[in-house]
Formats: sequence, C-alpha cells, structure tokens
Amino acid sequence: HLSKRLQAVAALVPSVPKLADIGSDHAYLPAYLLQRQVIETAIAGEVRPGPLANAQREITKLGLEEVMQARLGNGLAVLDPDEHVDVIVIAGMGGELITEILTRGQAQLRQHPVLVLQPNVDENVLRRWLQANHYQITAEQLVEDAGHFYEMLRAEFVPNPPALTKTELDFGPYLVRERSAIFRHKWQERLHKSELILRQLQASKKQPATKIAAMQARITAIQEVLNDKG
Ligand code: SAM
Repeated sequence: HLSKRLQAVAALVPSVPKLADIGSDHAYLPAYLLQRQVIETAIAGEVRPGPLANAQREITKLGLEEVMQARLGNGLAVLDPDEHVDVIVIAGMGGELITEILTRGQAQLRQHPVLVLQPNVDENVLRRWLQANHYQITAEQLVEDAGHFYEMLRAEFVPNPPALTKTELDFGPYLVRERSAIFRHKWQERLHKSELILRQLQASKKQPATKIAAMQARITAIQEVLNDKG
C-alpha cells in the first residue's frame, strides 16, 4: 500500500545490506524494501515520539523486529559515525531541511553512503548541496501523485563529480534531458504561477527592482527549458 510517491523513491534504492530511513514516520518505505528483500536490515530514524511510535507499531505488525530498528533522534544523529550504512533515504521533507540534516550529519557521511532523497520543495537547493559535497546525481524521477509533483533522486559520492550547469541544477540533469510530459506539466504550472507573481510585483509600488528582475529571470529560464525541443 505504498503511495505512488514512495514507490518511486523505493525504485531508486539499490539492493544493499543496510539502509537508514531518516524521518521515517510509519516506516512504510523500509518495511516495503525489507519485505521485497531489496535490503537486509533497516534503521528508521525519527525526531518526534509520535511518528517513532508509528514506526514501532508497523515493525511489530509486520514482524520485522529482527531486521528493523526504530531510533529516536535528530537527523543522522541516530546513526553511530562508525556504523556502516549503505544507503540513507530522506523523503517527504523540504529541500532546505534535507540539506540541513546532511550538513549536520557530516560525521555519518564519512563512509559515503548512497543517498536517496525526495525533497517536497526547493530541489535546486539540494542539488547545489550535492554538487558542493562531491555527490553525483545518478538517477532522478518525477511523479505526479494526488495533484502534487514530487521529485526524487539518487546520489553517489565520487571524488570529482561533473559540474552541472545552472539549468541542470535548477531543473534536474536527467529530468531536463528527458523533458517528459509530467516535467512539462510541472513547469507550465510553475510558469503560470511565476507570471502571476510578477504581475503582482509590478503592480505594487513598493517592490524593489531587483526582486522583479529575479522573477523575470526565473520566468525566462522556465520558458527556455519549455521551448527547447532538445
Ligand atoms: N519519510 C516519510 C515519507 O516520505 O512518507 C515521512 C515523511 S513525513 C512528512 C516527515 C517526517 O520527518 C515526520 O515524521 C517528522 O517527524 C520527521 N522529521 C522532521 N525533521 C526531522 C529530523 N531533523 N530528523 C528526523 N526526522 C525528522
């Protein structure tokens, strides 16, 4: 009973011994991956007791006590820096928060686990963090689920990842190349919203010119990506 969004996240997880799902809530994702034997063991991390209890209930319900542990703590602090984890999943939060969790968890990233990330917003912020921290995006997906667009990606540590262009950082290197129907739908919608905001900015006497120029630049960038027939 995984949502379309979480199924798309699951599809990006490589087959490995050990996974940590940070901000796991019901632990649906690691439970699904354990049951399908994509992974052998899992840690479900949660910062709030309520969601942690959800995870614990799910573990008990499915009889996964031997292979999944629910741990209370902030971000990657639930992992011992010396504990080897193959994949870290962080899904269903904003890109800013995911970036903060990764930054505060540098000690836990020393062994360079594969990252599977699903930011709800601010995907560009996350891509810039990955680029600055030697993580190369190796897969991306975009799905529409219950009227929302969701982006998910897999990133792997490499000493010298190829530098992404501004367009690739803003729109996603694989997504912009593929330009799927969903991708065009998402950015058509963003374009309409941005045009509306621009008109409001222009109508207001109090808005600084820099803010208007930034919105105009954003609109141009979206138009270029939508018009480029590749
Ligand atoms: N990952 C699941 C998913 O994608 O369906 C649950 C997403 S839920 C919207 C976000 C969860 O992240 C909440 O349960 C929240 O308690 C947890 N969370 C937020 N900040 C966190 C942090 N710094 N460390 C661990 N968990 C966090």
